[in-house]
Amino acid sequence: MFPYQDALSYVLQHCRQLKPALTPVAKARGLVLAQDVVALEAIPPFANTAMDGFALRANDVREPPATLRIIETIAAGHSPTMLVGEGEASRIMTGAPVPEGANAIVMVEQTEADGDEVTVNISVPVGNHIRPIGDDVLKGELVFEAGTILTPGHLGVLSSLGLLEVIVFPRPRVGVISTGDELVADGSALKAGQIRDSNRCALLALLEENDMSPVDLGLLPDNEDAIEKGLVEGAATCDALITSGGVSMGDFDYVKSVLQRIADMRWMQIDIKPAKPLAFGLIAGTPIFGLPGNPVSSMVSFELFARPGLRAMMGRANPLRKRVVATAAESLGRRPDGKTHFVKAIVDYADGKVFVRSGGGQGSHMLAAMARSNSLAILPDGSGYSKGDSLEVLILD
Ligand code: AMP
Ligand code: MG
Repeated sequence: MFPYQDALSYVLQHCRQLKPALTPVAKARGLVLAQDVVALEAIPPFANTAMDGFALRANDVREPPATLRIIETIAAGHSPTMLVGEGEASRIMTGAPVPEGANAIVMVEQTEADGDEVTVNISVPVGNHIRPIGDDVLKGELVFEAGTILTPGHLGVLSSLGLLEVIVFPRPRVGVISTGDELVADGSALKAGQIRDSNRCALLALLEENDMSPVDLGLLPDNEDAIEKGLVEGAATCDALITSGGVSMGDFDYVKSVLQRIADMRWMQIDIKPAKPLAFGLIAGTPIFGLPGNPVSSMVSFELFARPGLRAMMGRANPLRKRVVATAAESLGRRPDGKTHFVKAIVDYADGKVFVRSGGGQGSHMLAAMARSNSLAILPDGSGYSKGDSLEVLILD
C-alpha cells in the first residue's frame, strides 16, 4: 500500500499554481492575492467626525456650560465653508469633514441648541471624536502582502482604497464527470439495477463551497469512446478534472483504460479507509483526480487529495484542512489492518472543549451518515480509542 503522506505530496507537487490574473475585487473573496497592495490613498481620506454634534474649539468649552454661536451645518459628503472662530461652532454630521479652526467635536447629546446658539454642557479634549486622515491606513503604506487570503473585510479595504481590480490566483475551473451505466440523473423511475447519480452533485457543491469554479461535465456511460471524448474535451477547457467511478478493477472500468492511454497516471492503493484507490495524473498538463465511485469514498478522497491539490493551484500556502485535538465522547473502535481510518464523525463544542462522536454507519456507500457528520476522526492503525481519549479530527465545516 502507498503511504498517505506520499500520495498527498505527489498530488501537491503536480498541482501547479494557476497564473495570477486581474480580477474584480467584488469577485475575489476566498482568493489569494498575487500582488502586494500599497495604499495610493489614505483611509480615512480626510479628518472627519465620528459623531453627530458640534465642531468647536476645545478651549471654548473648558468651563462648561459654554454658549457658542452656530455658524453653519455640515452634512456628510459636503465641504465646510466657514472657519470656526473663537466662540463659534458648526453643526456637523457623522462622516462630514471637520471644518478649519475646530479641533474637537462634542456629541449632540451633550448640547442644547436654541436658534443659532448652542450650549455645551461638557469640556472635551483636543481631537475629541475626530478621526484623523490616515487613521486606519496611511497613504503609501503596504496594506496587504501577496499571499493574503481575501476575506470580506479585505474586499472592503480594497474598495476603500478605490481599487476595482486586484491580481489574484484565479478560481480553478474544475470539471466533474460521473461515469457508470447504472446511474440515473434525470429523476426518472429506477429500472432494475439502477441507482441515482449522487457524486456529481456532491462534488460540484464541494467545489463551490471551497471557492472554486465548478463545471458540470455530465454523466457518461461505461463506453470507451464517450469517456475519452469527455476527458479530452474537459481537460482542454478546465484547469482540473474530477471523475468518480470506473477506476477500480472491474470489467467495465473504462475511465481507467482511457486514462492509462491518454494521461500520465499514477494508480495508487493508499493505506487509508475509506478512499483507498486514487488515480491521479495529468492529461496534457491538466491535473485529473480519478476518485472512487462509492459516494462516501469520493467525498473523502476529495477532502484528502483533490481539495489540497486544487487549493495549491489557488496559491494557498496551507492547502490542508485544520486538525483539532478532541476528546472522544464515546469509544471509537476499529481493527488493526495497516490503514489509517478516516471515520465520519460529529464534533460538538461544549464548555470551551471539543468532543467527538461517531457520525453513524461507516460503510463507504452510507452517504446519509456522511451528510450528518461535520468532521473525520483520524484513527491510526490499531484498535481505536476509548471514551475520554484525545484524538485528532479533521474539521470539514
Ligand atoms: P465503480 O468505482 O465504478 O466500480 O463504482 C463503485 C460504486 O460506486 C458502485 O456501487 C457504483 O454504483 C457507485 N457509484 C459510482 N459512481 C457513482 C455516482 N456518480 N453516484 C453514486 N454512486 C456511484
Ligand atoms: Mg462504475
